[in-house]
Amino acid sequence: MNKYQMPRGTQDILPNESRKWQAMEELFRQFAYVYNYQEIRTPIFEHTEVFKRGNDSSDMVNKEMYTFTDNGNRSLTLRPEGTAGVVRSFVENKMYGYPDLPVKMYYMGPMCRYERPQKGRQRIFHQFGIEVIGAKNPYLDVETIALGWSILNALGLSNLKVHLNTLGDDESRNAYREALKKHFASDINQMCADCQRRYEQNPLRILDCKVDVDHPAMKTAPKMSDYLNEESQKYFEAVKAGLDALQIPYVVDDRLVRGLDYYTHTVFEIISENLNTTVLAGGRYDGMVEYFEGPQMSGMGWALGMERILLACEAEGIELGEDDGLDAYVLCLSDKVQKEAFTITTELRSNGYRCETDYLGRSFKAQFKTVERMNAKVAVLVGEKDIENHTVTLKKIDTQEQFVVSLNQVVEKMDELFPSEEEHECHCADGECTCKKEH
Ligand code: ATP
Ligand code: MG
Repeated sequence: MNKYQMPRGTQDILPNESRKWQAMEELFRQFAYVYNYQEIRTPIFEHTEVFKRGNDSSDMVNKEMYTFTDNGNRSLTLRPEGTAGVVRSFVENKMYGYPDLPVKMYYMGPMCRYERPQKGRQRIFHQFGIEVIGAKNPYLDVETIALGWSILNALGLSNLKVHLNTLGDDESRNAYREALKKHFASDINQMCADCQRRYEQNPLRILDCKVDVDHPAMKTAPKMSDYLNEESQKYFEAVKAGLDALQIPYVVDDRLVRGLDYYTHTVFEIISENLNTTVLAGGRYDGMVEYFEGPQMSGMGWALGMERILLACEAEGIELGEDDGLDAYVLCLSDKVQKEAFTITTELRSNGYRCETDYLGRSFKAQFKTVERMNAKVAVLVGEKDIENHTVTLKKIDTQEQFVVSLNQVVEKMDELFPSEEEHECHCADGECTCKKEH
């Protein structure tokens, strides 16, 4: 193996793909802005205890963390998820004391999990996620689900399903855990090693097993809904009613327990039916702020996997972030005019025109190919003769019109050819119109 290859499960996002990423990120930011979420950026590694809390039973904590000891002999972990760091920060920065609760935050960035790489599953992947901490209200659960749903819709994704469940409060969940323990007691020895661990740590997690999914005992397992106390039931009913009011379609999936131990009450996933995989998932957590030694406060959040969103878009034929091309390409047609070509390029850029020029002394034909490949609106031809005459030629690609202008009028001509929106504001009614817009 070539030692200069990237590690397994990682990926370069190449220049021609990053546009898609930026388009997606911009859309996330716009939605976050409208829903009034502010960005939080937490460290990419944290003390291991931030993620490994108590006797956590999740695969993520037990099998997937990149944990290392630094030179100061501290155990650190590359973040496998966003929520723990955000809640740690919420407490550390005493956000619970902010005058306007809940605090609504979003984050975006790489996460690291030691998993077996496959399509849509990497060791470094990216999440966009939100957290609302400091209020417990079913309408907030609805708000966050609606935000996720709206983002996916705005991307153009249509083959989506919301799977919804509740894990109830501590009392309900404890009763349910007991029932599961009883139920699996006689079968657990034939189930996978992970399930045997889960049985001891958190039998709820067994329902999330991908190995024993077809085991007969899974099919007959008791249902959470039969163990919900009245308060938990009421909360879930309110969430469902809120989703109904917004006409967000969902299915109640009482096998949905989610992969992390910290969830209480609402849990949900949004599944891309084209990919047959979860693209966005989250839920409510009642105990985490307290765990980090903050006050008793509830939070709700979700994260989406950005690679999976891109796969889902691809599967639905959605193009993100189309490049609208250069405004101008400045052809440098002789070594002797490089300075002038460069000056024009710089002037155009200073005036906000996106442009490029040639640095390789290539032939006219080769440079013109680039004009086409870069989808330039205008080719600015700079040759020796032009410079002797203190002129250059602008060629408007769509109409094939040519304009000879003096060296220092290139920007002016571009302004004329592509008037900005404000300059479009004309006064034709007053008979003073000078703009070239069709009326
Ligand atoms: P899965 O059941 O697929 O392992 P998960 O329950 O571990 O997912 P979460 O921790 O809820 O996933 O993360 C939220 C989202 O992040 C997932 O729905 C998915 O889109 C994305 N995601 C999680 N792990 C990976 C990974 N290894 N590679 C790419 N995306 C991932
Ligand atoms: Mg996982």
